[in-house]
Amino acid sequence: MTQQHPGDTVQGWATAALRADSAAGQSRTLWQTSLMSALLAGIYDGVTTVGEVLNHGDFGVGTFNHLDGEMVVLDGVAYHLHADGTVSDASKDDRTPFAAVVRFTEDTAIPVGHPATRHETLNKFERTVPSTNLMYAIRIDGEFDDVTTRTVREQQPPYPRFTEVTAGQATRSSGPVIGSVVGFRLPSFEEGISVAGYHLHHVTDDRRSGGHVLDFTLRRGDIRAMVVEDLQIRIPSDPAFLAANLNQGDISAQIHDTEGS
Ligand code: ZN
Repeated sequence: MTQQHPGDTVQGWATAALRADSAAGQSRTLWQTSLMSALLAGIYDGVTTVGEVLNHGDFGVGTFNHLDGEMVVLDGVAYHLHADGTVSDASKDDRTPFAAVVRFTEDTAIPVGHPATRHETLNKFERTVPSTNLMYAIRIDGEFDDVTTRTVREQQPPYPRFTEVTAGQATRSSGPVIGSVVGFRLPSFEEGISVAGYHLHHVTDDRRSGGHVLDFTLRRGDIRAMVVEDLQIRIPSDPAFLAANLNQGDISAQIHDTEGS
């Protein structure tokens, strides 16, 4: 935990962390490859390897080549969440069309002692932040009564748009599990670059199941968060990306439909 400075308000952990780390050299860069708007446009061929993603961070979310499942990066390990609900370790040679990672540092830990819905849990977090115009990495570790997830399935070219892939998608209810919810809370100005609001993935403690989080009930646990200062985007240069129309229709509505955010 970052020390509170005299004069900080109770909402001051994020500003205190930014101030402390400008001297300490802590990396607060969110590194991502490609764009959410490219996924929406059906750009699913991975141009970045998992190895390169891990060079830029030890914590984050993403997907895999051809949209083959969801990615969780947690404590430096990249996990591949498959459409059948199982999990394997990703290979460093696996490719991804979209991933976002940070070097996670725990700026704050907020205990949750009573059962809380997704909405209640995230509200509890938001009451501690000075602004929703900042970027946050967030992990929630604990016992969950249930986590509702979906996991995207491998696609074949010609690729359908992301809204078609996720329409009518199967969702899975975990039942009681111990695990982690991993992801980001990003400002509205990142809509289309990434997912504005929350983008959260789940993996169980035994690393046997997980997915893209649609809903959860936390029985008890801890919300751990860091404030992110910089955003670095690796823009693809492959022909599919260069030819893509990244501005088709209502991006926010499509992200709401595909991500449930
Ligand atoms: Zn996701």
